[in-house]
Amino acid sequence: MAETVGVLGLARSGRAAALLALAAGESVFASDAGSGAEVQDAAAVVRQSGGEAETGGHTVERLAACDLLVLSPGIPPDAAVLRDPRLARVPRISELEFAFRHLRTPVVAITGTNGKSTVTAMTAHLLKEGGLNAVAAGNIGLALSEVALRHTPPDWAVVECSSFQLAEIDTFAPQIGVVTNLAPDHLDRYAALEAYYADKARLFANASETSRWVLNGDDARVLALPGNAPGQRFLFRVAGPLAPGQSGGFIQDGMLTLRLGDDDLSLVDVHELRILGAHNVANALAASLAAALAGAGAEALRSGLRDFGGLEHRLEVLGEHDGVLWINDSKATNVASTLVALQGMTRPTVLLLGGRHKGEPYTMLLPALRDRVRAVVAYGEAAAQVQADLGGHVPVTRVDGDFATVVARAAALARPGDVLLLSPACSSYDMFSDFEERGRQFRELMPRVGDEPAPGGEVPRGA
Ligand code: ADP
Repeated sequence: MAETVGVLGLARSGRAAALLALAAGESVFASDAGSGAEVQDAAAVVRQSGGEAETGGHTVERLAACDLLVLSPGIPPDAAVLRDPRLARVPRISELEFAFRHLRTPVVAITGTNGKSTVTAMTAHLLKEGGLNAVAAGNIGLALSEVALRHTPPDWAVVECSSFQLAEIDTFAPQIGVVTNLAPDHLDRYAALEAYYADKARLFANASETSRWVLNGDDARVLALPGNAPGQRFLFRVAGPLAPGQSGGFIQDGMLTLRLGDDDLSLVDVHELRILGAHNVANALAASLAAALAGAGAEALRSGLRDFGGLEHRLEVLGEHDGVLWINDSKATNVASTLVALQGMTRPTVLLLGGRHKGEPYTMLLPALRDRVRAVVAYGEAAAQVQADLGGHVPVTRVDGDFATVVARAAALARPGDVLLLSPACSSYDMFSDFEERGRQFRELMPRVGDEPAPGGEVPRGA
């Protein structure tokens, strides 16, 4: 008998999951509390394809009558509707799990606190360079359900997995799993850090002897995460060599190097990478290992590593203006990611820090700030907390007002030769719809502020 699948959330992934269920001959009841244009469109598409859809609220009785609930990535496991006791008896899974059940493509799954999108995009890029038909999916943009709907399955799906999506898996079993790093994050959503790490550990829930795990060998929390899950381990390290007999990736004489068998495979010099910072050397090693295990050859890895330009809003160099290098790291939404951004800075830095506070102390930034900070500009809802944590230790200027005012003030504090870095360590939701909008506004503000005519009347523009 066909099942009725309840789909919660009708943004991109929920819509794709609903269509996938319909394509599999199941009945669908999709429900979204929102009623924006995207949700309305998705509801219309679901109805046209033979399903039912509601927007602007959840009819709990209808959801309670479903055989299975599929949760879109935007629905946190503690969402109010999920706490309704009438839904307690309905099994619930994430869109990741639902798509996986229908997928005919092997999976490289990527999780961790930071670097997921970069490693996901880079791994897919390296595989494509090697002539394989690979797609980047999951949180990065393309829903895994969309991949499962394709008539011609790709050779590999490289899937960015959030902790929420991993929390609600059941059979999900990637051929290759990558953990980039683990650090405190989402303290606003998780009651305890252990619960956040436990969700990440679900990656190993269905491990088998044929699983292959690519793990950050410099991060003790990552190394402990799989426990005694079966499968072969490959470690990547930038802080030192691999232990004798250990397979993985490391830096040898300045070269990214893989050790998968007896011989070392030298790839490219770290300076040949176009992405900035030591953390991106780690990301490149992780992606190279995953791609090599999935079948990319040495030449493909070398050319792919040389031409991967990174993603928008991740230490993205916008250009130089009046001698100041503007860098957009809007995606840095936790303290750990701002820390690595600062560690990658070689010039005096004016740091834009603020947004919606997520619960982590900013004091963790102090050692990196002391070495290179010209000024911290504290803004947004977190401004008072930033000032309380960092003021008295490094120069902190609190700026109230809109983002244009904040950026203009920061630009005025920078001197020629400095970096102006937006790496806010906070979420963007106090002033923007998401981190992308924050990064775009920063980019748009660049040519307009500090627009002093240079000697000779020339206005130097961004590089
Ligand atoms: P995610 O998808 O996990 O959020 P991204 O690849 O989008 O990660 O990078 C987000 C931010 O995290 C970057 O702007 C950078 O500041 C930081 N970051 C990226 N890779 C790492 C890493 N390997 N270790 C620590 N921080 C990182």
